[in-house]
Amino acid sequence: MAEIDAIRITETGGPAVMTATRVPLPEPGPGEIRIRHAAIGVNFIDTYHRSGLYPVPLPSGIGLEAAGTVEAVGEGAGWEVGERAVYCSGPIGSYAEAHVVKADRAVRLPEAIAFETAAGSLLKGLTVQYLIRQIHRVEAGETVVFHAGAGGVGQIAVQWLKSLGATVISTAGGAEKCALVRGLGADHVIDYRAEGVEAIAPKVREITGGEGVPVVFDGVGRDTFMASLDCLRTRGLFVTFGNASGPITGVDLGILAAKGSLFVTRPTLASYVATREALQAAADDLFAVLASGAVRLAEPTVFPLAEAVAAHTALEGRATTGSLILKP
Ligand code: NDP
Repeated sequence: MAEIDAIRITETGGPAVMTATRVPLPEPGPGEIRIRHAAIGVNFIDTYHRSGLYPVPLPSGIGLEAAGTVEAVGEGAGWEVGERAVYCSGPIGSYAEAHVVKADRAVRLPEAIAFETAAGSLLKGLTVQYLIRQIHRVEAGETVVFHAGAGGVGQIAVQWLKSLGATVISTAGGAEKCALVRGLGADHVIDYRAEGVEAIAPKVREITGGEGVPVVFDGVGRDTFMASLDCLRTRGLFVTFGNASGPITGVDLGILAAKGSLFVTRPTLASYVATREALQAAADDLFAVLASGAVRLAEPTVFPLAEAVAAHTALEGRATTGSLILKP
């Protein structure tokens, strides 16, 4: 039986629970396709699956995203062998040389977009799309806060927000990362490592003439939670979409009243690309901003597939900027 290289976990924990192994080459069933990977996307959510923060049945593969070439097509799948494809919604197990996915969860990849770019940007870019075009449709002239601007999601967000005509306030850890985010077009960047998270809200108040911003997009989680609420104007929207510093727990909802009738949402990408039509529309929007040059992606940092442990260690250690990919 044919086999492929893959990363598996049999227990949850630190990066070292991921082991490189050989697994049988999976066959697509009806409505499924098998993609031979050229590049695999690494996302912060993969670390939550690995650590157990987001539980998955074990043993398990790991990874949600990859780009490559369709090499086997199940009955009624509606794809041709040889087509270029990218996907980011599982099933979990993209850290492998090839993977079987539902045909309607994969997106045809335009020739102009390299596999490496696609694997480094589909999940992150669709996330930015639903955050700033669906949850809160950012308008020209609005001032918004988007945390962690040097990260994978953050770099796409800062540029996309600027192309919409927003004034962008972002945060990053360290002088180098802050300079990078400024270079992407952010109007104001707060070094929350050097200045502390307490510096964020006063700075945002100063920039907005005391009013605060209508919306904060926060993928950092626990460490920036209170600062984010304090950045908002009356009836502002707190969009908490990730846990890079740990999850927000034990909240008394009364705090939303105390801070000015705030709104809060804790979204996940899956709900915004649940249908084929929604997935394709969001992907078209992303591909259009990439093609227009409004969002320019830095070359992703590349790790060999067998070095997934090093990729997770770097991502969780705040040692990375932009996207990370694995190469089979
Ligand atoms: P990033 O490349 O943004 O990496 C995370 C960044 O968060 C780090 O580089 C670091 O930047 C910052 N950070 C702040 N505090 C910590 C900490 N204690 N430990 C580690 N990092 C910290 O990752 P992604 O682009 O893959 O994802 C960004 C966020 O978006 C994640 O929280 C992820 O879960 C979330 N997400 C949510 C989705 C959803 O639909 N809800 C979908 C996709 C992503 P710095 O050093 O500058 O502080």
